[in-house]
Amino acid sequence: MFNINKVREDFPILNRKINGKQLIYFDNGATSQTPKVVIDTIVDYYTNYNANIHRGVHTLSQEATDKYEEARIKIQKHFNAKQPYEIILTSGTTESINIISSGFSSILKKGDEVIVSALEHHSNIVPWQIMCEKSGAELKVIPMNENGSLQLDLLDDMLNENTKLVFCNHVSNALGTINPIKEIIEKAHKYGAYVLIDGAQSCPHIKPDVQELDVDFYVSSAHKMYGPTGVGVLYGKEELLNLLPPYQGGGEMIKTVTFEKTTYADLPHKFEAGTPNICGVIAFGVAIDYMNSIGFSNIQKQENDLLEYATEKLQKIDGLTIYGTHNKTSIISFNIKGIHPYDIGSILDKLGIAVRTGHHCAQPIMDFYKIPGTVRISLAFYNTKEEIDILIEAIKKAKTMLS
Ligand SMILES: *Cc1c(COP(=O)(O)O)cnc(C)c1O
Repeated sequence: MFNINKVREDFPILNRKINGKQLIYFDNGATSQTPKVVIDTIVDYYTNYNANIHRGVHTLSQEATDKYEEARIKIQKHFNAKQPYEIILTSGTTESINIISSGFSSILKKGDEVIVSALEHHSNIVPWQIMCEKSGAELKVIPMNENGSLQLDLLDDMLNENTKLVFCNHVSNALGTINPIKEIIEKAHKYGAYVLIDGAQSCPHIKPDVQELDVDFYVSSAHKMYGPTGVGVLYGKEELLNLLPPYQGGGEMIKTVTFEKTTYADLPHKFEAGTPNICGVIAFGVAIDYMNSIGFSNIQKQENDLLEYATEKLQKIDGLTIYGTHNKTSIISFNIKGIHPYDIGSILDKLGIAVRTGHHCAQPIMDFYKIPGTVRISLAFYNTKEEIDILIEAIKKAKTMLS
């Protein structure tokens, strides 16, 4: 059963003091904290079997290779991909998206259309803009509603036989909105368009089943799901990954090399040029084990309780507006009338509370609400109601100081 005190003991950083106060970490949407099992895995790797993979005949290299490939299988099982080689290990969501957008740059042509949602992180906007510039394809945007949901009924009119790709996040990092991705995928497939889902913000809360979703590409980052930074995943259907050209040239991604002609390696190696983040991938596998040992139903229950509790308390503060009230994960973006979000964030930091302030790499959403940014708290299952009580008092204090 879920025991919050025991769970908190898994995260050594939660004992830290900031400016003499106990750390309260409410910036999980930017990066989550790391449980001891993951930290121990990293130490164990560099202490006992650090070596390059897939090439050495020696014992260390074989041990590292085995652990690396075991991690790929853990990740495959977690996402329920059909084959281990449909899991490409990358440096993160951003790189995963760039592998796909760069590949399609040479496939798309003028007259083709691609669709993005209004709720995207810059990582899921800019690579597609570059792709459109290179290929001549046209980028269209699914608009959003005031409550932070998408105007999905408009998608039907935007789709046509020229639509080649649709990209959308599973969960918005700025507002927390959970998007109806299954419906989006079904609609897009009717026109033969492929769909990429950015799962960077959903994977800490939801276990996606890529086969059940019938999604073409699904991407995420380890560091938002209790793993290390600099590691991520790109799931792609086998036939689509085979269709795309390699992203980077180098070692590991080739079959044969001569100066006349190089042939590329099979999946997944075609997309894993150079020495990967071996330790990071192995630690990512352990982070996934850790999340599954806590259990996604426990994670969701704890986080939903915290979300409800915090929302109710925040709403009672005079002049406070919450952006995004649709079906969502444990993210609350807000502003207080007449006060810049950065000023609130700075005072909260002095009181030991870590929040995010700014546009959250989602400027189009801020433009929609005509605001410069928000204060964002993003809650994880190791957060508590007591921490929220302290936050509420701190916000009231900040408000008095700043108005
Ligand atoms: C964090 C985030 C990204 C970028 O992830 P990186 O790990 O920085 O590559 C992309 N999309 C969403 C929704 C995110 O939350």
